[in-house]
Amino acid sequence: MLRKSGVNCVILDKANFPRQKPCAGWITPEVFKALQISPEEYPKSLTRFSSFQVSLFGFSFRFPTKQYAVRRWEFDTWLLERSDVEIIKHQVDHITRQDDLFIIDGAYSGKVLVGAGGTHCPVQRTFFDRQFSSRKSGLIIAREEEFTYSIVDDRCHLWFFENGFPGYSWYVPKTGGYINVGIGGNSKKLKARGETLKQYWDRLVAKLSESGLVNDHEYNPLGYAYFLRQQSKKADLENVYLAGDALGLATRDMGEGIRPAIMSGLLAAKAIIAREKYTLESIPKFSFPSLLRQRK
Ligand SMILES: Cc1cc2nc3c(=O)[nH]c(=O)nc-3n(C[C@H](O)[C@H](O)[C@H](O)COP(=O)(O)OP(=O)(O)OC[C@H]3O[C@@H](n4cnc5c(N)ncnc54)[C@H](O)[C@@H]3O)c2cc1C
Repeated sequence: MLRKSGVNCVILDKANFPRQKPCAGWITPEVFKALQISPEEYPKSLTRFSSFQVSLFGFSFRFPTKQYAVRRWEFDTWLLERSDVEIIKHQVDHITRQDDLFIIDGAYSGKVLVGAGGTHCPVQRTFFDRQFSSRKSGLIIAREEEFTYSIVDDRCHLWFFENGFPGYSWYVPKTGGYINVGIGGNSKKLKARGETLKQYWDRLVAKLSESGLVNDHEYNPLGYAYFLRQQSKKADLENVYLAGDALGLATRDMGEGIRPAIMSGLLAAKAIIAREKYTLESIPKFSFPSLLRQRK
């Protein structure tokens, strides 16, 4: 959006793309709306689900809903290429302000900064830290793995609060012969019980094996932590904006973070272009209404 409006901008990212991002890659139809394309126009692999196979406290049922899954490996690279913006591989460390310019590591400068560096975003750390240092209650810890597999069940399985786990686990089969399995839950609740995510991960792996969904796979999961949306936080300062996980915008019920990351990025761009107020009110705090809306 910035590029289309003629704003001179660059993206700094520490990773080489395509890069691995721990994420199940589930996206709601609203993601395509935000990107102003139809699912058919998405040029990479896309998995379509007409229902989720849900287990709630051990009670199983089929929940009809039209949802999608992408591979982050492909999706993020496609988004970057689509932006048509110069991408510089650089790990941002030190940001200072000199008059009306932000100086990054003495090497890059700009008049406006958008911090979209995820949970440990350096822009957030530099300019917003005080308001974030106390936010421990909405912290989600997660681990997942995506791997090639001869899929035996093409349904998306979600297990909520299984064995008392404060969160949910998933099995997401994807087009092209990939499976994403993972688990994510409330860090504070786990700690208070003296439990670890690893214990529940091991149970998930055992369950996947017992149910015949995944057999004979040597797991090598990735872990990551991110924040669910909480009470309003300051999202911008003069010419500095935060977006996505840097601000902690994932939905409170399902930890959906891709849609809020995209929507907040677009809203930040809009605010920069039109010199409008940056407000996040239009970004949903919950995913469940979208799942319900998409029921046939
Ligand atoms: C296991 C797991 C499963 C998930 N599953 C889903 C799901 O199925 N659906 C969903 O909607 N959400 C899911 N989420 C949440 C979702 O992945 C995130 O909310 C979303 O990726 C946030 O996007 P972002 O652009 O803000 O941050 P990120 O996607 O984390 O991107 C941040 C970027 O900043 C770069 N960066 C970081 N630090 C620096 C630095 N110092 N200098 C330069 N660059 C830097 C990184 O390389 C990265 O490319 C999941 C999260 C986890 C952990």
